[in-house]
Amino acid sequence: MPGHRTHTVPAEQRALLRDALADAVFYRDPPVDCDACDALDGLCDACAAGLARARAYLALGRALGVDASR
Ligand SMILES: [Zn+2]
Repeated sequence: MPGHRTHTVPAEQRALLRDALADAVFYRDPPVDCDACDALDGLCDACAAGLARARAYLALGRALGVDASR
């Protein structure tokens, strides 16, 4: 596949990278209980930003050939 590079991270580092990204996603995931979200009946700005960052982490993981969602 010209111009398409995947699995540029060594296997033993992919496992660590997956864990690191999964941790990052975990901490960026919107909390189950958020008073601001409850008041809005939706995602508040802080949670929306966190969710966007979590999705960016997952996309980065996929780009590097690891799946951080679990
Ligand atoms: Zn919130």
